[in-house]
Amino acid sequence: MKTSIDTLTYETVIGLEIHAQMKTQSKMFCPCPTQFGAEPNTQTCPVCIGMPGVLPVINKLALEFTIKTGLALGCRISAFSRFARKNYFYPDLPKGYQISQYELPICEGGFVMLNVDGKDRRINLTRIHMEEDAGKNIHEGAASHVDLNRAGVPLMEIVSEPDIRTPKEAAAYVRKIRSILRYLDVCDGNMEEGSLRCDANVSIRPLGQEALGVKTEIKNINSFKFIEKALEYEIERQRRVLKEGGRIIQETRLWNTSAGITESMRSKEEAHDYRYFPEPDLVPLVVDERWLSEMKKAIPELPDDKIQKFIGQFKLPPYDADLLASERQTAAWFEEAVSLGANPKDVSNWMMGELMRLLNETGIDIEQSPVKPAHLCGLITLVSDGTINLKIAKTVFEDMFKTGKTAGELVKEKGLVQISDIGELEKTVEAVIAENPNETNRYKAGETKLTGFFVGEVMKKTKGKANPKAVNEILRRLLG
Ligand code: ADP
Ligand code: MG
Ligand code: ZN
Repeated sequence: MKTSIDTLTYETVIGLEIHAQMKTQSKMFCPCPTQFGAEPNTQTCPVCIGMPGVLPVINKLALEFTIKTGLALGCRISAFSRFARKNYFYPDLPKGYQISQYELPICEGGFVMLNVDGKDRRINLTRIHMEEDAGKNIHEGAASHVDLNRAGVPLMEIVSEPDIRTPKEAAAYVRKIRSILRYLDVCDGNMEEGSLRCDANVSIRPLGQEALGVKTEIKNINSFKFIEKALEYEIERQRRVLKEGGRIIQETRLWNTSAGITESMRSKEEAHDYRYFPEPDLVPLVVDERWLSEMKKAIPELPDDKIQKFIGQFKLPPYDADLLASERQTAAWFEEAVSLGANPKDVSNWMMGELMRLLNETGIDIEQSPVKPAHLCGLITLVSDGTINLKIAKTVFEDMFKTGKTAGELVKEKGLVQISDIGELEKTVEAVIAENPNETNRYKAGETKLTGFFVGEVMKKTKGKANPKAVNEILRRLLG
C-alpha cells in the first residue's frame, strides 16, 4: 500500500543555539573593553588580534556569569572543564581558531519552563559553554574591511535539546532565556546590537515517528519576530520539498529579511571540519565548592518564582503575572507598590496600561520613572475612596508622569475632586434632560442605550468630575 504524502501529518522539531554576549567590562582572554559601537579596531590588543606568541588569560567574571546562568537554569556545573580550539579560517578570525569549549563544557543539562497558549512546556538544555566572539567583516562597495573590536568578546552558548515544537514556542523560549539572563544581569539581551542572537535548527518528521528528520540550521537570527517568521517559512519549505518527492539536505541557511525567505548558505558537504583539540595555552577549569555555594546564594528570585508568587500570593491572572515578571525592575516596582498596601490587580492594571505606555513613549526605564510606586498607591487610594473618578485619574497619572508631583497635589491644584453631591448632580442631570427633549423621548420609548449619551453630557458640564455611579443612579430615577 502506498501512503500519500498529502495525508501524512508532520511534526515539527526545533532545537536552538543561543549566543549571549556577557556583560563584562573586558574581553574573554585580554583586558580590552567590550563596549558596543566604538570606532573600528580601537578596542584591540595583541591577544585579540591574534599576534603570535601571546597568551590568553581567563576572565573570571565571564566564568562566574556562565556558572550563575547554569545554576539559574538547573544545569550540572562541571567541577572540571576545559577550553578547546575550534579551527577554521575566516578573515574576521585572525588566529585561525576560536577558543571555545567542546567535550568538557562548564554546564550540562538543565531546562526552561514555558507556558505557551496555556500549555506548560519543559524544554531541556544540552549544555552551556563559554567561547570568544569573532570580529566583523564590513563590506563597502568593492572594499572589505575587518573590525576586530568584537574579537574576543565573551559569549555564552546555550544549546537546547530538540524539544521545541512550534515557532511560537521557539520565540517564547528565547524570551524566557533573555529574561533570565537579564535578571541575573549577565547579558543585556539587546538583540539589535547582536548581544543575543540565535541559530535555529529545524526538521520535520511523520507524527509518531521516533527518529529525527534531517535538519537545517538557520544562522544568526536577531529578533523574536524573525525567529518565528524564519521557522514558519522553513517548515513550510521542508513540507513542500517532501510533498514533491524530494529530500531535505542537511545545510546551513540564512534568513533573508527583505525577501522573507531562508536561503542556502552551505551544505553539510561543505561544512567545516573544526579539528577540535584542548586549548594548550589554558589550564583546565576547576570550580571549587566554596565559590560555587557563594554563587548559588547570589542567585536572585527568577521570573518563574515571581510568576508563581504573583499568581499564588497576589492572585494576578497568569497574563499579568507573566508580563510583570518578565523584567526584574518591573517586578520590583510592582512588588513595592503592593507592599505599600495597594490592591495588586489595580497596580497591575495601571502598570500594564498607563505606566508602560508612557515609559514606551518617552523611552524612560521604569527605574527612572517619574511616577514612583508610592505615587501610584496615592492615586489608587484617591480613586477607591471616591475623591476622583477613574477617567480623571488617567489624566492625573499623565500629569504625575510629566511633573513628578503626587496625585494629591495635582488634584488639589487643579480642583479635580469628584462631584458626588446628589443635589448638585441632580440639578445638572435635570438641565441635560431639559436641553435634550428628543433623546429623552427616545429613552423613555425604550432606547436605554442612550444612557451613555446622557452620562457624556453630564460629564461635559462637570468637566469630567461627576461621580459616574451617582450620575447613572440619578438618570435611572429621573428618566424612569
Ligand atoms: P550540529 O553538530 O549540526 O551543530 P548538534 O547535534 O550539535 O548539531 O545540535 C545543534 C542543535 O540542533 C541543538 O540545539 C539540537 O537540539 C538541534 N538538533 C539536532 N538535531 C536536530 C533535528 N534533527 N531537528 C531539529 N533540531 C535538531
Ligand atoms: Mg550548530
Ligand atoms: Zn585585546
